[in-house]
Amino acid sequence: MDICDFFWPRVCINCGLFGREICLECQDLLPKVNPVLCPLCKRPTSAWQLCKNCQRSFSPIKQFFTLGDFQNPLLKKAIFAFKFSHQRGVIETLAEYLASKLKEGRAEFDFIIPVPITKKDFFERGYNQSAVLARTLSRFTEKEVLEKVLLKVRETLPQRTLSRRERLRNVAGAFSLKDPQKFIAKRILVVDDVVTTGATLKEIASLFKKAGAKRIIATAVAREF
Ligand SMILES: [Zn+2]
Ligand SMILES: [Zn+2]
Repeated sequence: MDICDFFWPRVCINCGLFGREICLECQDLLPKVNPVLCPLCKRPTSAWQLCKNCQRSFSPIKQFFTLGDFQNPLLKKAIFAFKFSHQRGVIETLAEYLASKLKEGRAEFDFIIPVPITKKDFFERGYNQSAVLARTLSRFTEKEVLEKVLLKVRETLPQRTLSRRERLRNVAGAFSLKDPQKFIAKRILVVDDVVTTGATLKEIASLFKKAGAKRIIATAVAREF
């Protein structure tokens, strides 16, 4: 127990039990993701791989790791706890679970890249939750996180209000990659908090592909389609 646990005791966000933010018993309430169903459309595939159809639509992303659907009440609660009340322990717990999925699916990557937000958003919110998640994942996976190479250079509309075609247009050219030569023949893990359409991940993945990266995979705490 460290001094922080004394002042801010770790309690389960679901049942209030002392110890950790999602206690062992409540872990059972998190979604059960079947790794041989496509993480995007749930058609049969192999370990955490996108099915052939989704690989075509979300090219060049090959694998996508998630803890499950955003509609799951406990996952939703956990995401709200980290997004709006910045509960560090919740991020720790979610990152630890995600790291175990990455390991289970034999995810291979050299760099962890969080989905960036614009400078203006950063100024307003004070932090980027994908970056916080990426940093925590980096501790569990012992891979380097790069936060300054991918920039969001313009504002985009909220994706959920748009049609598929509009979503792709909405994010086209919204990001820019610095030092692209750093990624030649590298494997990239892109990290987001909640994936709603996949268009943002696809746009970011294409930038790394263009830079010469050899494999791009992605992860998010939850999917919401
Ligand atoms: Zn509990
Ligand atoms: Zn699919």
